[in-house]
Amino acid sequence: SVPVIAIDGPSASGKGTVAARVAAALGFGYLDSGALYRLTALAAQRAGVDWDDEAGVAAVAAGLEVVFGEGSIRLAGEEVEGAIRTEEISQGASKVAALPAVRAALLFRQRVFRCGAGLVGDGRDIGSVVFPDSRLKVFLTASAEVRAERRYKQLIGKGFPANMQAILLDLRERDRRDSERSVAPLQQNEDAVLLDTSGLTIDQAVDQVLDWYGS
Ligand code: C5P
Repeated sequence: SVPVIAIDGPSASGKGTVAARVAAALGFGYLDSGALYRLTALAAQRAGVDWDDEAGVAAVAAGLEVVFGEGSIRLAGEEVEGAIRTEEISQGASKVAALPAVRAALLFRQRVFRCGAGLVGDGRDIGSVVFPDSRLKVFLTASAEVRAERRYKQLIGKGFPANMQAILLDLRERDRRDSERSVAPLQQNEDAVLLDTSGLTIDQAVDQVLDWYGS
């Protein structure tokens, strides 16, 4: 069957960047599962549905009209790649992701990405629930300080306002909520290999994953 590489890790660990590059290097597709939770949070907010209204948010998730392109994500025809990356929507994504009905609604949307030569998926339960038979599972992390600095540079680079202290506090809060929740908590599963990128460049991290995959 179509091979899958699953990459998880805390927010701003660089897992998205590494996953996308590994996918490009292998000619595989790329699934940014976090984007689906972010899109759900944004669409719920726009529809006036509270982030803790499980049935309401699950209905929003089931009805998402989304088209993924290269560096582009369209929600009901509107470009939202920037709008889903704000800190507010990051918090919202982490809230709606704790609702079992929302996770169930997004499950099939993730499985359809498994086609073509292969797939690299990043996100929480990609290796444990969505594609448990993934050929390689990586838990990619970096220290909170390094992650906050990367997020800061990324936001500034895109012309968004950013505050280093606020980002660090926000990351720690999201790490805590993501690891303490009962549903799909942030953790390194026992069959995932650990990749600490604190002292690595993106290229080095990508090469390590390709090396483990055996390409
Ligand atoms: O990876 P990203 O930061 O875009 O994910 C946003 C939030 O969505 C995470 O903080 C996490 O709570 C949630 N998420 C999840 N399961 C996934 C992907 C993301 O619970 N597969």
